[in-house]
Amino acid sequence: MVSKKISFIMVVLMLTVAVLAACTPAATPEAPAVADDAPVEITDTELNVLCTPQEQWCQGMKQEFEVKYGITVNYVRMSSGEALARVMAEKGNPTFDIWWGGPADSFIAAKQEGGILEQYNSPNMANITQPDKMKDPDNYWAGVYVGTLGFATNTDWLAANPGVEAPTSWDDLLKPEFTGQVMVAHPSSSGTSYTALATILQLRGDEAGWEYIKKYAAQMSQFTKSGAAPAKFVGQGESAVAIVFSHDIVNEIENNKLPLKLTFPEEGTGYEIGGMGILKGAKNMQAAKLWFDWALTPEAQALGPVYAAYQAPTVAGVELSHPELMQVNLIDYDFQWAGQHKTEFVEKFTNEIANAENLKQ
Ligand code: PLP
Repeated sequence: MVSKKISFIMVVLMLTVAVLAACTPAATPEAPAVADDAPVEITDTELNVLCTPQEQWCQGMKQEFEVKYGITVNYVRMSSGEALARVMAEKGNPTFDIWWGGPADSFIAAKQEGGILEQYNSPNMANITQPDKMKDPDNYWAGVYVGTLGFATNTDWLAANPGVEAPTSWDDLLKPEFTGQVMVAHPSSSGTSYTALATILQLRGDEAGWEYIKKYAAQMSQFTKSGAAPAKFVGQGESAVAIVFSHDIVNEIENNKLPLKLTFPEEGTGYEIGGMGILKGAKNMQAAKLWFDWALTPEAQALGPVYAAYQAPTVAGVELSHPELMQVNLIDYDFQWAGQHKTEFVEKFTNEIANAENLKQ
């Protein structure tokens, strides 16, 4: 009798386990296995991403994340300056859960403002190759890529202007042959353009730097809203030279077959660490942390070149698609300084040098 009872209980137990297993959704996302704590079940079904890199990469990352974790990703692409203004305006009640991409200066400015970013010590911070530079010491943001600034010159224009060489220094941009022939984005909207401005100020110091920037701004044919756009416009023959991140120039040359020559300022160029941060008050906090963890894996960072993004990775274990873009003379770019002065320098540029009206899209 007793053994019958035990067998019955065992059958019931086995059935219960089988039924429970069958009811558990196969694709329930879990925190990555690298976490020290036991994996936590994620109940968020959506994630709202403020996406600052190029559209193609945003779209690709959205799809990859959705397939991997079964969470719907809604994203909006904005340039860095617009993104910073938006998260500041939505402080305390953010539309977005995570802000992914764009130079870290904006994330440093957001940290400085306070109440915008959520601290998150992801277990995958351990994957970052240079934690002293590539992440915030208080875990408000982490770096997800690295890119260097370059010049793109239209080769048809060079052929039509014999004797003129593609610029290889910041001073070359001021030559009379380039007057009205240079394009860059406006630093109020674009992180690319702000990186150029902060690079010049770091290379030349405050007084000589702003003197140079006045002359530099006078060389422009037009300012654009997006940082990568000048490479396209110059490739289409609208002006001769663009100041853009080198990986965006490579994209226009290799994928869009535009007639561009990539050069770098020999005295030193600036670079960006593309940042990522969770918005304080995010409505889908678990999913935001999942994206944050995932974006710091070699697997996610290896996806860049699949979607025409040729930046260098920030984590170990990923091969560089274009190592030559990093083998140039880089200044010792001070991200903290650039971030802390961003609002002040952008206002100075906008009020005293070139306003942000009528920017080319
Ligand atoms: N697109 C790419 C590929 C970038 O590397 C960056 C910089 O992080 C951006 C866009 C930033 O765009 P914007 O200069 O318009 O803020």
